[in-house]
Formats: sequence, structure tokens, C-alpha cells
Amino acid sequence: MFQADRMRTKHRLLDLNRMNQKPLPQYPALRPRRIRQSPALRRLVRETHLSVDQLVLPLFVRSGKKVRNPIASMPGVFQLSPDELAREAIRAHALGVPAVLLFGIPDRKDDRASGAYAKNGIVQQAVRLLKKELPDLLVITDVCLCEYMSHGHCGIVHREKRGATILNDPSLKLLSRAALSHAEAGADIVAPSDMMDGRVLAIRTALDGAGFSDTPIMSYAAKFASAYYGPFREAAESAPKFGDRRSYQMDAANANEALREVALDIAERADMVMVTPALAYLDIIHRVKTEFGYPTAAYSVSGEYSMVKAAGAKGWIDERAVTMESLLAMRRAGADILITYAATEVAGWLKNDR
Ligand SMILES: [Zn+2]
Repeated sequence: MFQADRMRTKHRLLDLNRMNQKPLPQYPALRPRRIRQSPALRRLVRETHLSVDQLVLPLFVRSGKKVRNPIASMPGVFQLSPDELAREAIRAHALGVPAVLLFGIPDRKDDRASGAYAKNGIVQQAVRLLKKELPDLLVITDVCLCEYMSHGHCGIVHREKRGATILNDPSLKLLSRAALSHAEAGADIVAPSDMMDGRVLAIRTALDGAGFSDTPIMSYAAKFASAYYGPFREAAESAPKFGDRRSYQMDAANANEALREVALDIAERADMVMVTPALAYLDIIHRVKTEFGYPTAAYSVSGEYSMVKAAGAKGWIDERAVTMESLLAMRRAGADILITYAATEVAGWLKNDR
């Protein structure tokens, strides 16, 4: 009797367990299409939303006045002189875009990337102007050396007979100087993109030491060596003159390593972490957000933008619908922040949808 009772209880528990694992009724009781019948119903049960609050617009600045150099491989994107940059930022901000991400194209390059940390460098000038014209606009600066190096690499190059190596630790000093000079110019957030080891710690230490302990770091934590950056190199004039970036940017095949990179940057006190490119790396975005719960940015890079623009121009896809669907996918994967060249257009579309 006692044994039978125990068996009965055990079976009941097993049944409950099974119900917990499989709580769904079956068709015809369950009809998923019931909640897709009308736009209002679909709106009500929508799980993920795109908002202008999530958008960051990358901008390229170079010296001069009234300069708008179109970038052939990125329709609608320009290298801008500071006055035109301000106009572009005002347009985005008026539509509700809360932040821009600045890249500089210096007049001269050298093998110490001195333009990256010059007090009156092009990015430093642009930051001062934007903060004066648009105090509420968040100005994020990309911190790297490649645009300012004569060889186009993101760190200091040591040339040997057998080839060249990118030196890690000496590069950290230059990166820290660049980040500090951006903060001094008024940057709200600095975003190191070089993928040197230990750069977040070096930059944090430099900022804290100079009284900028409140300046957040958004690190390009998992930046993959990617063919999707192609058009950007034309935009930023930053293509490496020899070799490639595979000794510092990540191998596209590695997800666990991406998590280690993110863990390291968080340990080094990154405030926000980024995955780039975005669309081909949604699994990484998802794992980074699930694992760490940190503010996570997805950088939808130049190649992603240009492919949609090109196919849209040919009438092969609906540019607007594909752009929105791609950004929504990044959000669904876990991205909080969406960095996209289409930010201003998207902000306009979102406004008209309301
Ligand atoms: Zn770089």
C-alpha cells in the first residue's frame, strides 16, 4: 500500500513535469494566427520595438569649409567639413537621433598617428563645434590610429625583414592620448576600435588620471576582421597599405573568443560593449547580451548599408523595409544601441509611422 502511494505520487509529479515542459495545447485548440489578424492586434503582441532613442549616426569629418565629398561606395554618406558636419548633425538631432559617432580624416598622416591626439586635430575641432552648437547631442568619438597612420594600421608597426608586426603595448600610449584629447575637447563617450589588448584599461586609467572619470567608454569589444568594412575604408581613407588586420581583429569563426574579449573589456571597465559587424554576427550579439547584460551596441557597418542601398536602387529589394527589418533583427538579438549610416533616414521613417 505504502509502495503504491509512493508510485502514484511519483507518476503525478512526472505528469506535472511533463506539463511544465509542454504546456501548449494543440491545434485545433491553439491557433497562432488568431493574434495576427489585424494591424492593431499585431501591434499589441509585438515583442521588439525600434525607437529613435536607440540610433547612433556615424559621421566622417575632414578639414575645410562647405566640403561634402560623396563616398562613391556609400550613397548618401559624405566626408564633411566641420560646418557641413554640424548641419548633418542638426538634421539628425532634429529628428530625434540622440548620438553621433565621429571619424576623422586628417590632412596629413605619419607613422606616429599624431593627428589622432593633436589638440587641434580634426575630430577635436569637430567635437568642440558640435558641443557648442548642439549641447544635448551625445558626441561619441571613435578612438583609433588607422586613419592617422601613414601605413593605415590601427597600431604602431615594427618592420622587419620577414614582414611587419603591429606592436601592442606601445600603441596603448597613443590610443590613451587620443582618447584623452577627445575627452578634453568635450566628447561625451569615447569608443576605442583598435582591438589592441589592454586598451580599455589603458584608456580608463588615462581618463581617470586627468579628471575624466565620468567619461564612459564604449568599447568595440568584439570586432571581427570583416569584408563588410570595404566601403568604410574609402570613407575614412584608412585601408592598410600592406598586410591585413587579422592579427588584431577577430576571426569570423570564433564566438567563444568573442565572449572572452567582451569579458576582458568589462573587467577593464568598459561601460558599454559593441559587436561589429552586426547582421552576420547576430548570434554574438545575442550571447553577449544574454551572458553579460551590459548595454550592447550593434554596429551595422558600411558593407551592410551599401548592399541594401545598391539592391534598393536597382529595385531588387524594398530598401526601407529591409533596413527596418535588419535593425529589428539586431534589437531582437539583444542590441540596445544601433549604430547605422541610415540613422537619419530611419528616424524620419519612424516619425512618419507614428
Ligand atoms: Zn583602426
